[in-house]
Amino acid sequence: MSAHGCDVVIFGAGPAGLSAGITLLNHTQLSVWIVEQSNLQSLRVGESVSASIFSLLDYLQLSRDEFPPTCFLPTYSSTAYWGSDKPTNRESLFSVESQGYQLDRQAFDFSLMEKFTALGGHLLPRCHIQQMQPTTQGWQLRFDHVEQGSLSVECRFILDASGRQTSLAPKLGIRYREVDRLTGVGLFMQPPAGQSLVQEQWIESTELGWWYCAATPGNQWVVTFFSDADLLHQHRLNRLDCWLSLLASTHKMKNKLAGARTCSSKLWLKSAASKCCLPAWLSGYLPVGDAALAFDPITSMGLGFAMTSGAEAARIVASLLGGLGVDVSPDYWQQLNQHFQSYLKNRQQFYTLEQRWSSAPFWHRRHGESKEPASDTAQPHLYT
Ligand SMILES: Cc1cc2nc3c(=O)[nH]c(=O)nc-3n(C[C@H](O)[C@H](O)[C@H](O)COP(=O)(O)OP(=O)(O)OC[C@H]3O[C@@H](n4cnc5c(N)ncnc54)[C@H](O)[C@@H]3O)c2cc1C
Repeated sequence: MSAHGCDVVIFGAGPAGLSAGITLLNHTQLSVWIVEQSNLQSLRVGESVSASIFSLLDYLQLSRDEFPPTCFLPTYSSTAYWGSDKPTNRESLFSVESQGYQLDRQAFDFSLMEKFTALGGHLLPRCHIQQMQPTTQGWQLRFDHVEQGSLSVECRFILDASGRQTSLAPKLGIRYREVDRLTGVGLFMQPPAGQSLVQEQWIESTELGWWYCAATPGNQWVVTFFSDADLLHQHRLNRLDCWLSLLASTHKMKNKLAGARTCSSKLWLKSAASKCCLPAWLSGYLPVGDAALAFDPITSMGLGFAMTSGAEAARIVASLLGGLGVDVSPDYWQQLNQHFQSYLKNRQQFYTLEQRWSSAPFWHRRHGESKEPASDTAQPHLYT
């Protein structure tokens, strides 16, 4: 077994972990490792962002030239059939910022990885955690690496950026408040030969859940149906034939996608559940991104939060390990909780706009939650 030491180990090379790593390397001399369990080739979903992504990149000292030219595709129109069969502009309905972009998520994440390694960060894919033990100095970790075998790493702090289905938090006894079991099931579709896609997004609600379709930088549509895991199971919507017949029963989406060809015979299935990590006063540990709070994709809040929470946690780690100032991590936990409370109000506001199937399980579950009045001004105070 080879033994190593570093200051900070970040679990997960997604936008949250990479933003945390880049922030630490931009502003401190700390040594930072990112360990990633995949081989970096697995599908990365979540691509709709607002123009505020560029302020976040400025903060990370990343210019647009450091991304491939096709990484950010402006979205010129965003249409929602939500609450009625009449089209509404999605921005006005969901009060998200007006200028939107579709990211090439693979290219985006890879550019962040390049920046992290160029700054001297150590990125280790295909690395699986086997053991984690708190010590007086921080943590003793043992990993299994596909090529290097068993690795033992001592570090002072760990950041959990391992996403919505974190396997790390349960190992540490950390619990979540999960408010739904929303799941996205989807695939990419190609337009009929010779047709270039218009840069637009569509949303259509149905009795069972809602459809999302957007043109991506590769001249493909990403098409996803969102519903609760039990309803998807009940209607066998992990099967392509069932999924396609549900698509064919939509009023609008089926016309939009008429003549489109599926790029794969296999659907992907991703948890999109809303959840919040419950405060854990664990020394030398903070969760970031989806591992801290995970949002319904209808809000397009996930990527922005992943990056801001990564940067915020990095600031706390820098201050703690540099011996500067007071420990503000309790504030971080409190702000996570406040942010989730405001998000829940906004989320309920979105779903209340659709009343056509209020007795159907998917909608009934969402209408029956908190009765607190939603506020137009319910904005997160840390992560905007
Ligand atoms: C279907 C769907 C559509 C979405 N659409 C949007 C959207 O349009 N806009 C938006 O802003 N957000 C969207 N989101 C949310 C967005 O994808 C996430 O908020 C964002 O990816 C979170 O980034 P993250 O870095 O926290 O986690 P992730 O991007 O999930 O990255 C986590 C990384 O950790 C790795 N990992 C997991 N476990 C371990 C471990 N034990 N050790 C090491 N590595 C580990 C994973 O392999 C992964 O690389 C969507 C989500 C879903 C499911």
